[in-house]
Amino acid sequence: MSKEIVNWSGSLRFTPGTIAAPANEEELCRLVQQGAAEGKTIRVRGAGHSSTPLAQTTDILISMENFHGVVSREENIITIRSGMMLKDANEVFLEHGLALENLGDVDLQALVGAVGTGTHGTGRNLRILSDHLVGGKLVNGKGELVEFSLGTDRDLTLAARVALGSLGIFTQLRLRLYPAFKLHRKEWCTHIEDCMINLDRLIDTNRNFDFYWYPRSDEAKLRTLNLPGEGPDDIPFAWCQKERFGWSGDVIPRERDNKFDEIEFWLPIENGPDCFEEIRQRIKTVHRKNVGWRVLYRTVAADEAFLSGAHGRATATISMHHNASLPHDDFFRDVEPILLKYGGRPHWGKKHYRVVSDLKLLYPKWERFHEIRRGMDPDGVFMNPYLKAIFEQEKEGDR
Ligand SMILES: Cc1cc2nc3c(=O)[nH]c(=O)nc-3n(C[C@H](O)[C@H](O)[C@H](O)COP(=O)(O)OP(=O)(O)OC[C@H]3O[C@@H](n4cnc5c(N)ncnc54)[C@H](O)[C@@H]3O)c2cc1C
Repeated sequence: MSKEIVNWSGSLRFTPGTIAAPANEEELCRLVQQGAAEGKTIRVRGAGHSSTPLAQTTDILISMENFHGVVSREENIITIRSGMMLKDANEVFLEHGLALENLGDVDLQALVGAVGTGTHGTGRNLRILSDHLVGGKLVNGKGELVEFSLGTDRDLTLAARVALGSLGIFTQLRLRLYPAFKLHRKEWCTHIEDCMINLDRLIDTNRNFDFYWYPRSDEAKLRTLNLPGEGPDDIPFAWCQKERFGWSGDVIPRERDNKFDEIEFWLPIENGPDCFEEIRQRIKTVHRKNVGWRVLYRTVAADEAFLSGAHGRATATISMHHNASLPHDDFFRDVEPILLKYGGRPHWGKKHYRVVSDLKLLYPKWERFHEIRRGMDPDGVFMNPYLKAIFEQEKEGDR
């Protein structure tokens, strides 16, 4: 039985031929072997929060909803089955006295889905969620179960950390976590000019710092999160509107009422302020009438995952949010060249218009990643038309 699949924002829909929820690894391996023998395209889905058609297929869509629970724990390394939602995983980690180093804005994704696109939070010294991955188990394109670990299969692990579901289907994730910790969260309001003049200091003196800019009012909402007793008590040019204290998994993510579409790029951190200023002027002069919503500015530490947006460089990210009920295409297409001009790499789970010829120039380990991908999936069982356009075809596909 199949049904229409719609992503979180409602901007993507498709109907797979079959939706399969295998009960265990043996069943999953058989499914992939059979699909491969019949020349079918197989995709796996997390919670549907991406707004690029990564999971789209008219053949077989896999759900990992039957893969739950903790497999093992040794000190700060925990192995979980891959069907866990991020929110549930945070609760389980806390029961073990452990936590992820950082989180993004929400915890409604599957943890494996967040890993799949290199999901990040904010904080100059904090890496993407995938950086916790030190091993796991994947079913490859031949329907074989492949177990790997950072110690013995370094390149495979660095490829698997951000793989868009193209290396195989994770059944287990092995994660190196941190002792559980609490954070003091504050939200502040100020004018954007004051925020930008003080940006470096705000980024340097807070564990987590980001801001939203609201184009119509030119106000900025700042968010700071700090360990108890750390971080500034006061920001002289801003007033504190809200504060909260609690476990990291409770205070970093927020609730989302309004649905939106988003374009987000990862830039070398030193280019962030100039890029933001150019985007700001562009929105004010060209898009202000239609674009009332906000722009989000964050930072991320450099990491080694081959397709991470922060691969090899300290990063600032800039994202434009646009109400899901309004057309976003003209706006996003207009700002993308500015993001590219400053060395931006697109977020894999958000809207962008780049294809393989552009993308391969942005990642120093692009070729190595694809060597590994072809080894894991030689017949391209996991390659849907969208992945072919961003990974294989040399000219713009029909997206
Ligand atoms: C409201 C909202 C807030 C967001 N906030 C942030 C944020 O703060 N920071 C940020 O960086 N991003 C953010 N995102 C983007 C989001 O984190 C990513 O799109 C993420 O990948 C979505 O996870 P998902 O579980 O919904 O997976 P899906 O979107 O369903 O899938 C994502 C990828 O994971 C792969 N995958 C899923 N399961 C498996 C598996 N078992 N094995 C192998 N591959 C698998 C899929 O094939 C796909 O390629 C946000 C998105 C929304 C809608």
